[in-house]
Amino acid sequence: MPAQFDLHCHSTISDGLLSPPELVAYAANRGVKVLALTDHDDMSGLQAARKAALKHDIKFINGVEISVTWKRRTLHIVGLKVDENNLALKTALNAVRTGRDERAQEMGLDLAKAGIHGAYEGAKALAQESIITRTHFARFLVENGHAKDTKSVFKKYLVKGKPGFKEHEWMNLETAVGLIKASGGIPVIAHPGRYDLGTINMLLLMHEFRSLGGAAIEVVTGSHTPPQYQQFAKMAHRFSLKSSLGSDYHGSGISYMEMGCIPDLPVGCVPVWDDWPEANFLI
Ligand SMILES: [Zn+2]
Ligand SMILES: [Zn+2]
Repeated sequence: MPAQFDLHCHSTISDGLLSPPELVAYAANRGVKVLALTDHDDMSGLQAARKAALKHDIKFINGVEISVTWKRRTLHIVGLKVDENNLALKTALNAVRTGRDERAQEMGLDLAKAGIHGAYEGAKALAQESIITRTHFARFLVENGHAKDTKSVFKKYLVKGKPGFKEHEWMNLETAVGLIKASGGIPVIAHPGRYDLGTINMLLLMHEFRSLGGAAIEVVTGSHTPPQYQQFAKMAHRFSLKSSLGSDYHGSGISYMEMGCIPDLPVGCVPVWDDWPEANFLI
C-alpha cells in the first residue's frame, strides 16, 4: 500500500506546475491523507493550500524548503510545521529570494556566453510571479530544443562545470536549522542521497545537523532509489534522527515521482509524524 503521507512537494509559488489549491486537490485525489507543501524559500502558498485542504478532507502541514550552503555545496533543508507568520523566518527567506534573482541573472549571462540567448527572460516568464529556480531554466532550455528532457538538461547545463552553473552562497546550515526551530518547526534534511558528498562528509553533515538540533532526514523521497531507502533508514537510526517521506512532486512530466504512490518508510524507522495529532487516524 502506498504511503498516506506526502511531506515534500512544490506549487507555482516556487517551481511546481500546480497552484497551491490545485496541488491539494490533486493530492487528495491520489489518496494522500497528510500533505505538506514545501515550496523553495517561500511560505506564501501555505494559507491557500490550508484552506483547500479543509475542503478536500486532507490534513495539511505547513512547510518550506530552504536552500543552504554547506562546505560549498547546496543542500536543501525542509522545515515542517513552521509558522508562516514568524518574522525572522519570513525576513530571512526574503533575502534568499533576492539572492535567487541575482543568481538567475548571472546564469542568464553565462548561458548567453555559451550562445543561448534570452534564458533569464525565458525562465522568468515561466516562473511568472514566483522565484526563478534552475527548474525554470531547465524548462526553457528543453522547450527551446537545447536538450531533450529535464533530466538530460542538467547533464549539459546548470550543474558544476557546465554553462549556466553559478556558485551561490545560500543560508548557512546553522541559521536555517535555528530559524526553523525558532518558528516552532521541525528541521529535516531533504533528499540526502542527492548530494554528492562522499561517506565522510555525509557522516559529518548528519553529525552537525543533529548537534544543531536537526530532527529528521528524508528516507523515502522521489530522489532516492530503493537501495537508498534502506541506506538512509540505517543512517537515521545511527544518528537518532526521525524519518520523513515525500514525493518532491513538481508537476506532471517534471517530477521524479508521482504523488500518491510513494512507498511507506522501511520497517524500523521512527516516522517524523510519530507524535503528531495529524497522524492519529493511523491508530
Ligand atoms: Zn530539494
Ligand atoms: Zn523539493
